[in-house]
Amino acid sequence: MGIAADTGPGRTASPLRERSGDLGPVHPARLLLIEDEPGIVDFVRRGLEAEGFAVEAAWDGIEGERLALQGSFDAVVLDLMLPRRGGLEVLAAMREAMPSLPVIVLTARDGIEDRVEGLEAGAADYLVKPFSMAELVARVRAQLRVIAQASGRLLWEDIEIDLLTRRVRRGGRQVALSTTEFELLVYLLRHHDRVVSREQILSSVWGYEHDPTTNVVDVYIGYLRRKLAGPGDPAPIFTVRAVGYRLGSAS
Ligand code: CA
Repeated sequence: MGIAADTGPGRTASPLRERSGDLGPVHPARLLLIEDEPGIVDFVRRGLEAEGFAVEAAWDGIEGERLALQGSFDAVVLDLMLPRRGGLEVLAAMREAMPSLPVIVLTARDGIEDRVEGLEAGAADYLVKPFSMAELVARVRAQLRVIAQASGRLLWEDIEIDLLTRRVRRGGRQVALSTTEFELLVYLLRHHDRVVSREQILSSVWGYEHDPTTNVVDVYIGYLRRKLAGPGDPAPIFTVRAVGYRLGSAS
């Protein structure tokens, strides 16, 4: 039974560690479910949503990989037998692009080789069908907790966020942020060097559908830039015209 308890190779060190368990009530953990059986999608989606998770479903391997690599999910539940692209292949792609993203594999195949193969390919955990909702919820929570414990800090260049104390430093200097500014910075850092749209920021940080004409994101980006900037050292948050923002290296 050692395999089930094995932490697997999925959580390797990454330059930017992520965690999502204790961000507070601002947004629910977002899960991506990659599964092609409608009955299971329905069952899993309803069960996880009832537990307060936000769930998005993809019905084949190609779509699942595309969504996963957008980087807005806290964990992935992945079926292995998928149309168009197999689960192990999708898993390998996710591991390469986002090594700290926990992936829980669902498989109908209960041969020991398949489980080992899944774990070696970087699954954090696996469940054999048929499984109970309670079991899946427990596994998902365990993964989110592991991430939270493994990485109480987010670090990018000279910006450091302690997720437990909610302290932020830039170049060693303490930066005092409001709750919303903090959530916004965490979101930008978790998507560093990628362009995120205002809509993505709104739904992730503010957590609900906002009036699309609101300028609240731009206002808070302004606050954050001012607070992060040092003398002669602007904040590394760039405006991408007509799209959104990017925290990252100047390009
Ligand atoms: Ca399947």
